[in-house]
Amino acid sequence: MSISLPTPTIQTPHVLCWLRRDLRLQDHAALHHALQSGLPVACVFVFDSTILDSLPADDVRVAFILDSLQSLQEQLRQHGSELITVHGDPVQQIPLLANHLNAQTVYANEDYEPAALTRDHAVSQSLAAQGRVLKLFKDQVIFARDEILTQQKQPYTVFTPYKRNWLARIQPSDIQAYDCSQGQWAPLPAQALPCLKELGFHEEARTKLLSPAGWQGAQTLLQQFEPRIHAYHERRDFPAKRGVSYLAPHLRFGTLSIRQAVALAWPSDSEGAATWLSELIWREFYQQFLWHHPETAQESFKPAYKNLPFPNRDDWFQAWKDGQTGYPIVDAAMRQLNQSGYMHNRLRMISASFLVKDLLIDWRWGEQYFAQKLLDYDMASNVGGWQWAASTGCDAQPYFRIFNPITQSRKFDPEGQFIRRYVPELASLDKQAIHAPWQAKQLPLAFRLGQHYPAPIVDHDTQRHLALALFKQAGEQEAAD
Ligand SMILES: Cc1cc2nc3c(=O)[nH]c(=O)nc-3n(C[C@H](O)[C@H](O)[C@H](O)COP(=O)(O)OP(=O)(O)OC[C@H]3O[C@@H](n4cnc5c(N)ncnc54)[C@H](O)[C@@H]3O)c2cc1C
Repeated sequence: MSISLPTPTIQTPHVLCWLRRDLRLQDHAALHHALQSGLPVACVFVFDSTILDSLPADDVRVAFILDSLQSLQEQLRQHGSELITVHGDPVQQIPLLANHLNAQTVYANEDYEPAALTRDHAVSQSLAAQGRVLKLFKDQVIFARDEILTQQKQPYTVFTPYKRNWLARIQPSDIQAYDCSQGQWAPLPAQALPCLKELGFHEEARTKLLSPAGWQGAQTLLQQFEPRIHAYHERRDFPAKRGVSYLAPHLRFGTLSIRQAVALAWPSDSEGAATWLSELIWREFYQQFLWHHPETAQESFKPAYKNLPFPNRDDWFQAWKDGQTGYPIVDAAMRQLNQSGYMHNRLRMISASFLVKDLLIDWRWGEQYFAQKLLDYDMASNVGGWQWAASTGCDAQPYFRIFNPITQSRKFDPEGQFIRRYVPELASLDKQAIHAPWQAKQLPLAFRLGQHYPAPIVDHDTQRHLALALFKQAGEQEAAD
């Protein structure tokens, strides 16, 4: 893809603001500093071929990004500027563009994922070779990297004391919005945004999007959530209720600033707000943890569980992915993920636990599948969530506490409302039968288990004992070594 900029290289000095997982022009640390520089600011987004080339053509995230960029483009035009988009490897593209725009400094926000750290180091080196600078700013978290440590200056591996320290440290200045209203914008010739097809993706992917994209989309969701926040602690575990915020994609792509999100809940004036704030702190807990332990993206944190001998049956993995395990709550969850790119948090816990402790499949297989499908996929939270459910991570669920998918289903979807929405073949079953049709005393006459809906592929009690033995043996082995 080519960019239409005046050639040869622009003479007037500029600065470049490189947007990545921060697709907004409001309360944006890097943009604020770029605008403060006194030089005209040009904003760029790179469609990173090193990431996009490995994604399936129906990936829902690219549609979300494009819609968010469209909204950015409209806002930049109101400032008399344009969003530049390029397609390629940022390690080459950013220095080329900086050279073209005569930009001495490139401003961007920090990204703590292992691959992003490597990329930013390479871009920084490449810019330095041209005598230019990459300036990075903290933006996507309140506390980054090693800002919150134990008294012994060690990273936290347990959430509650981390949260206590986080709450003791936060000050009003930490959530003060960055002013992005003063400064000069680069007047640029009109830039056309690519469409999904040009990037190699299907237009239909957009129809899966449940969340409105862009900064405006985030503001709408935030406003809708504001009156609900006080009941969050009571409603958040019920997937059929509108109890949660649905803001995760916006926090992932930075169409919402974390400072604005935290400001909604801190200082907390209700149990609901305090519980929601806790979830935002979990996000930071996992981010700092991955930064300290990047190896946990690939391996279990607990040494005893690094080489658990999972049988890893391919046919069971396929049934789990397809929502065909015969366990209605798990199947409804997986179908929600496949259809929309979203899965409710309670269901992420149930379906992850089921994969590892009922189907005895390595948590990394599930983590990878979620990484492909989730609109809000975030490496730190996904790895953290999977290692929590698999009992292999920091501050994880103890291995002997195994979710019973039937009990969970009865508790958190008591009427079977959520199951009926995603598993329509069970719609005629009553609320007693729907959670475990094979145990029902009576089923509708027209319904045949095994024909209209699969019989359970495993027996929970049997698998539970196998899982307990597998973990116990690995623990004993470690102790003996
Ligand atoms: C196996 C598993 C995988 C997960 N993968 C991801 C992922 O890839 N990306 C992701 O953002 N979250 C992930 N989570 C955490 C959580 O499920 C989602 O953040 C949440 O469901 C998003 O919905 P929401 O925005 O309505 O959340 P809300 O309940 O409204 O919470 C507000 C925000 O807090 C953060 N948050 C909430 N719960 C958690 C949590 N347990 N850990 C970390 N942050 C949290 C999110 O940013 C979320 O948007 C995962 C959890 C599990 C158990």
